[in-house]
Amino acid sequence: MDGASAQRVDLADGRRIPSLGLGVFRLSPEATRASVDAALAAGYRHVDTASSYGNEADVGAALRASGVPREDVWITTKLWNDDHGGDAPRRALEASLQRLGVDSVDLYLIHWPHPLRLETWATLERLHDEGLCSSIGVSNFLAPHLTELLARCAQPPVVDQIEMSPFLYRTRRDIVELCRSANVQVAAYSPLTKGARLQHPALVRISAETGRTPAQVLIRWALEHGFAVLPRSSDPERVRENARVFDFALSSEQVSALDDLDEGLVTGWDPATTLGA
Ligand code: NDP
Repeated sequence: MDGASAQRVDLADGRRIPSLGLGVFRLSPEATRASVDAALAAGYRHVDTASSYGNEADVGAALRASGVPREDVWITTKLWNDDHGGDAPRRALEASLQRLGVDSVDLYLIHWPHPLRLETWATLERLHDEGLCSSIGVSNFLAPHLTELLARCAQPPVVDQIEMSPFLYRTRRDIVELCRSANVQVAAYSPLTKGARLQHPALVRISAETGRTPAQVLIRWALEHGFAVLPRSSDPERVRENARVFDFALSSEQVSALDDLDEGLVTGWDPATTLGA
């Protein structure tokens, strides 16, 4: 087994999540199937989808077609903003399971810190106890959201999936440190800055030093910080490239130089200004 499938990180609930996951944000049905297919063949054992991406059914179809046993693949999906409160989270998860064609997901996340997040979290705790999701967590929770949830929950979230790259690392230091101290695993989304900084001169320099591509350096940087990391590509060759990150390391100087690139770059919605901030 190669590194793409072998390396995992421990979660607070005793489960182990593969460090590298394939992101499928807004990929078309055809691109979703092709990238999941390429990823499973390349050794990925973790796919990150969401009800709002509209491609859970394609993720499930690609998984079944691959012949890789269901229990070998970590599937994360997420509860969208329309599905908070009352019994809506249960209906949303059941619909996701049906689209994916599975009995349970490995990780179910609240996608955004919606104003009804605490009520919804209590329902996720019940869904977890019933076995519909093996682990539960959150996404886009900044330090105030996570502090509030940790104070009020019965079961703490085991993952906070947030945007993370060198271009945002120091800006996000408070939530990273809170996650470390509370044993909440950070999963880094948009780790390639959606492509926006792949040509940054400092990144290109470290790419030349290591003989790796800028994308591989960014993924490796996330792994060096202990984050799970979720790169997306619609191109099967890039899917494979993004998995070749377990046979080299960055020096502490290279990690620090990348950390210094912080510019507060948020490439998607900013949870500081979106919804229940
Ligand atoms: P990424 O930072 O992963 O960047 C994807 C872009 O990088 C695409 O345009 C892709 O182009 C390009 N790319 C990928 N690999 C390479 C490579 N090796 N060389 C050059 N370019 C490359 O973007 P995402 O925003 O999609 O983030 C990744 C995942 O994180 C998502 O798919 C999703 O699963 C998750 N996410 C979660 C969010 C949340 O709110 N929880 C929000 C946003 C993302 P191409 O396809 O042409 O290769």
